[in-house]
Amino acid sequence: MNKPRIYLSSPHMSGHEQKFIQQAFDENWIAPLGPNVDGLEDDIEAYNSIDHCAVLCSGTAAIHIGLILLGVKQEDEVLCSTFTFSATVNAIRYCNAVPVFVDSEKDTWNMCPEMLRAAIEDRIKKGKKPKVCIIVHLYGMPSKMDELMAICEEYEIPVLEDSAEALGAEYKGQKMGTFGELGIYSFNGNKIISTSGGGALVSKNQEHIERAKFLSTQARDKAPHYQHSVIGYNYRMSNIVAGIGRGQMIVLDKWIEKRRNINKWYRELLSSIDYITFLEEPSEDFFSTFWLTCIYFNKNDQGVDREMVRLKLLEQNIESRPLWKPMHMQPVFKDFPAYVNGFSEDLFVNGLCLPSGSNMTEEHFDRIQSSLLGLLSPVTA
Ligand SMILES: *Cc1c(COP(=O)(O)O)cnc(C)c1O
Repeated sequence: MNKPRIYLSSPHMSGHEQKFIQQAFDENWIAPLGPNVDGLEDDIEAYNSIDHCAVLCSGTAAIHIGLILLGVKQEDEVLCSTFTFSATVNAIRYCNAVPVFVDSEKDTWNMCPEMLRAAIEDRIKKGKKPKVCIIVHLYGMPSKMDELMAICEEYEIPVLEDSAEALGAEYKGQKMGTFGELGIYSFNGNKIISTSGGGALVSKNQEHIERAKFLSTQARDKAPHYQHSVIGYNYRMSNIVAGIGRGQMIVLDKWIEKRRNINKWYRELLSSIDYITFLEEPSEDFFSTFWLTCIYFNKNDQGVDREMVRLKLLEQNIESRPLWKPMHMQPVFKDFPAYVNGFSEDLFVNGLCLPSGSNMTEEHFDRIQSSLLGLLSPVTA
């Protein structure tokens, strides 16, 4: 195989990053604090129209700190989308709390409001009201926030939004991550912008973010010596890494536009293949970044299925990936309570993420086009 690999989503630098990194070196801010850390927090607050932000070493760390801020302790129950990446649930387990999984609905593939209500009512009936609800917006697609927030408000359950995959996405003109008590973003290598690794916690509530900064820098009390009254964490973002973030924030909207155009390109390319459906914005209320373009294979006479397409693309050195395997099916989480309707299990079997990087070239599009059309419509291609 000598054709270079086409990745699902790879880091895409803008050229602005080096300037911020150089500044950090020039001023010797080689530390987990400094002008880039403050600057990136300002950038994220301005971009999302949210008052307070703390940048941290990862999205996972942001979820962990977020759960601590919301008072999650051992044996507490935390509602959580089952259709997600394991990091969401790992953070619950770092608190020794109990994840309660909630299945997806067919319009957004995110948490189903009916299943959420059923889960809450059943947990209360069993004697315990869930402490927090983590709503995850996958693949850049906003969840049904009006419905989900109304249910959580009705039962007075605070919401933490896992917007690791949905930075820049909007519901009714409001940025994802800003609906709940807390929201998190990730800047890992394959996300819509990358700092090589990093995350952010945001909130309208200043106290939360001040506390997050305190906890993520080893929880040092105000004293001339080192004194500690609670357990701290070393979760703050480095000033070098934050410099990459500042460069990336400059181009975030451009990268979103590119990903949305890639999604459009795939939809046109595959429009005549009737057994393939796309994850699509259900209405004007939803603005997806289409971080990854996702397709679903319906049963068909041609005998085409997800795994066959994935393997054939791999032969051409084109990376694609099954959708997330639901958390209630994961060996490590299978014994926790789950409220499921079969939808996420079906998505896992029949869904595929296609290469969607904002740095894809014409040559990449040509290769993907000929591979996909060769596979899916052998007669007409
Ligand atoms: C990437 C991701 C995370 C974790 O973010 P990191 O920065 O990699 O720790 C959490 N939740 C979801 C849904 C993600 O996709």
